[in-house]
Amino acid sequence: MPNIAVLGSTGSIGRMTLEVVASLGVPYRIVALSAARQTGLLARQAAETGARAVAVPDERAAQAVRKALPKGAAPEILAGPAGLELLVARPDVQIVLSAVVGGAGLPAALAAVRAGKRLALANKESLVMAGDLVMAEARRSGAEVIPVDSEHSAIFQSLAGGRRSEVRRVLLTASGGPFYSRAVEELAHVTPQEALNHPTWSMGRKITIDSATLMNKALEVIEAHHLFGLAAEQIQVIIHRESTMHSLVEFIDGSCLAQLGPPDMRTPIQYALTYPERRAAPWPRLDLAMLGGLHFDEPDARKFPALGLGFEVVRRGGSLGAALSGADETAVAAFLDGQVRFTDVVPVVKRVLDAHRWIAQPTLQDVLATDAWAREEAKRWKPSCTSSK
Ligand code: MG
Repeated sequence: MPNIAVLGSTGSIGRMTLEVVASLGVPYRIVALSAARQTGLLARQAAETGARAVAVPDERAAQAVRKALPKGAAPEILAGPAGLELLVARPDVQIVLSAVVGGAGLPAALAAVRAGKRLALANKESLVMAGDLVMAEARRSGAEVIPVDSEHSAIFQSLAGGRRSEVRRVLLTASGGPFYSRAVEELAHVTPQEALNHPTWSMGRKITIDSATLMNKALEVIEAHHLFGLAAEQIQVIIHRESTMHSLVEFIDGSCLAQLGPPDMRTPIQYALTYPERRAAPWPRLDLAMLGGLHFDEPDARKFPALGLGFEVVRRGGSLGAALSGADETAVAAFLDGQVRFTDVVPVVKRVLDAHRWIAQPTLQDVLATDAWAREEAKRWKPSCTSSK
């Protein structure tokens, strides 16, 4: 029985997941939901889906949900940080789709794989922070980790065309974000509003800024390393402005297999839910003739230094991913707040990585402590960034 828990159900991926599940119909069913802030929408979603349980971060949010619930809807409400972990471990949940924003998604992702659930993962930060731990727990319990990130879904689907030992490398496509064609000198004056305007994908705020700095692609390099057991040399980033070829796998005989489709997250969401089956879907199809052409280009490492940090994390491993994730989340929030410039975001993250005391085999506690330290450290850099040119 595909009973689904959707974590982060009020965000962009969460809302699309509810739409996909409604379109799939029986036997797919939402049994649990969680959200951090939009309690009114969460209450409506709980009533519409008939969810049996919802999780929120604190008692105040729980009160707000109770008040907003329409008559007749009475899901169990779990409040507090442990609520998410209780939610995913419920015996009536088989699939956990995690679309939590940022590092907050890690404990629930770990709890899901520990409990042997299928983890449909949109929250890439949980792998960036603690991919070794999450994948080891999944191997131990037999839990499947199915990527929802469009590039990784493409790689996952293309890998079916050969054996793992026959993979030479993967090519991770990147749209390049809204500033790909802009001169590097102009980037310092980019406003949050401009950076939030992504050319091909409609997404949440954090991932949209990460896409503009290409930090999102750096996080995806780390995600690919953990999901598919790839070394840094086996991952190449290629700019592809049309966001139509969602990534490729190159096999040892030189054959490349790719997955293509319109830039629509509903496709990878549905695949992660129905895998290993495919189901008919009502959304718009790819029209290659109308598109006219597909273009590819080398990424500009000078303009987008974030990419190099992603490869550094893959090479050095250990606690470095947790430092990167915590620092980036803080730096992005500072940019959206107008406290640092767009061109400060990646240098702030780099300085935090340079100051980081590296742990080779971090425990979950080490990971969480590193993340918390990196957030504080990133805040410390703010004043120097604003005052410096
Ligand atoms: Mg992606």
